[in-house]
Amino acid sequence: MFSTMQDVPLTVARILEHGATIHARSTVTTWDGTGPQVRTFAEVGARAAQLAHALRDELDVSAETVVATLMWNNADHLEAYLTVPSMGSVLHTLNLRLPPAQLAFIINHAADHAIIVSGSVLPLLAGVLPHLAPTLKHIVVSGPADLSLLAGFGGTVHEYEELIAGRPTEFPWRGEIDERDPAMICYTSGTTGDPKGVVYSHRSIYLHCMQVNSAATFALTPADIALPVVPMFHVGAWGIPHAAFMSGASLLMPDRFLQPQPLAAMIDQVRPTVSAAVPTIWNGLLDELDHPTGRQTPYDVSSLRQVVIGGSACPPALMRAFQERHGIRVIHAWGMTETSPLGTFGLPPAGLGADDEWHYRAMQGVFPSSVQARLTGPNGERVPHDGHSAGELEVRGPWIAGAYFGGVGNEPERPEDKFTEDGWLRTGDVGTITPDGFLTLTDRAKDVIKSGGEWISSVELENELMAHPEVAEAAVVAVPDEKWGERPLATVVLRPDATVDLPGLRAFLAGRIASWQLPERWTLVEAVPKTSVGKFDKKVIRAQYAEGALD
Ligand code: ADP
Repeated sequence: MFSTMQDVPLTVARILEHGATIHARSTVTTWDGTGPQVRTFAEVGARAAQLAHALRDELDVSAETVVATLMWNNADHLEAYLTVPSMGSVLHTLNLRLPPAQLAFIINHAADHAIIVSGSVLPLLAGVLPHLAPTLKHIVVSGPADLSLLAGFGGTVHEYEELIAGRPTEFPWRGEIDERDPAMICYTSGTTGDPKGVVYSHRSIYLHCMQVNSAATFALTPADIALPVVPMFHVGAWGIPHAAFMSGASLLMPDRFLQPQPLAAMIDQVRPTVSAAVPTIWNGLLDELDHPTGRQTPYDVSSLRQVVIGGSACPPALMRAFQERHGIRVIHAWGMTETSPLGTFGLPPAGLGADDEWHYRAMQGVFPSSVQARLTGPNGERVPHDGHSAGELEVRGPWIAGAYFGGVGNEPERPEDKFTEDGWLRTGDVGTITPDGFLTLTDRAKDVIKSGGEWISSVELENELMAHPEVAEAAVVAVPDEKWGERPLATVVLRPDATVDLPGLRAFLAGRIASWQLPERWTLVEAVPKTSVGKFDKKVIRAQYAEGALD
């Protein structure tokens, strides 16, 4: 028997056409510092067509040409985001917080032909120009900028609005794109090593997008306004821009205004219903909501029906604080560049009492049907999903990477420490899974503290420390120890008006964890070092300790 169904490719072009027509009235609002700037999805669609004409006719962009963006979350970025893959070309989202050497490395590695750049980050691009390969032919600048910064560039410089002005507002999007063709390349943020390129296909983006819209996760509808605080260069803003065009949810784009005060102001004024970011951002926002800067009245954040926290472990204390003090429901999610990123989502099972709900919400969440998961022990054995046996998490699914980009003209790479022989992704994360499929991450394999044959979870110690009301941030890392091999070092940032001291914190922690896990080494710091996507940078903390800077 043969299936009798049509075989229609799942493509980004379909998402673009659908959003621009069926959801023509939905809007993308960019917060540009002076206030909200609004564009409809119909206008985004028309401008995307103009951009496509310009890229094809002026910049020689054709199938599989790589076009990069070095941009904040804003409407121009959304246009580039949808246009480039819909032409059959490949979009490369550049992380504008990468160290310049890594930025140059990934631009050259992906052989970017053109870069579309926000004017405010031009100095960063200008600084890396001398290190870029001649494969880069064009720079397109969006928004006000000092173009003289690009004087040394050997290619052509364009201004975004001038480039698209007057061009046709319809484009023959490539109907014949194969859904398995590359659509977008995103490099890992390099927290644990050099950035590695993950190439998403049209199909993987489309299927992931449907999951992001499903009621099991973000449940976006045209009645929503989604605020992706997570940057579009950090794993595609977790799929929200594509999902919005598919579902008709409007978007609020924060541009470069990611500090707690403007974020609180834009939530108060534009009234988003859903948002997503890493814990560091929400920690800062919580402070601002608790103590508004320069205003007498509290911010109105009642529009938010769901806030998603992922990217690193969300301390349960932070979730409770949002819920209890501001009525905001926080949902935990886990993922990585290699998983597009939606891997788990922390909506608790239905019908639970409040205590059981919190028990589930503190976990990283449950796997959707398209993501299969298993745990593997140190000798390759399967670890049971019993909620307490820990192993390395391996995953498989239609939006999970099966290899890394090997560089232009090279085969994809499948390093053994990242992919199993039977093709599953080795996440490098260690955790447990309950019989009903809920994941709890205890650590990254590289961050686990191996103390005298026992493992201590740095995440658990951090969560318990951050439960202290006077602790703003806490990061725990393994440091060498003569007797035990490794022991935990606790680095703590106190809130400005804190009165607790280190012995006081030690006593607080002693009441909450097993005594053998209690750190002997403690240090107060002004800030925990962060990676380019706002996660605790444990590599840097370990190096500071080795240099004696944290004694
Ligand atoms: P990088 O690996 O360079 O930090 P990613 O953004 O892809 O870049 O990071 C993915 C990693 O972030 C995961 O492997 C995991 O260690 C961590 N992570 C993501 N979400 C969570 C979460 N909810 N809880 C704990 N860790 C998380």
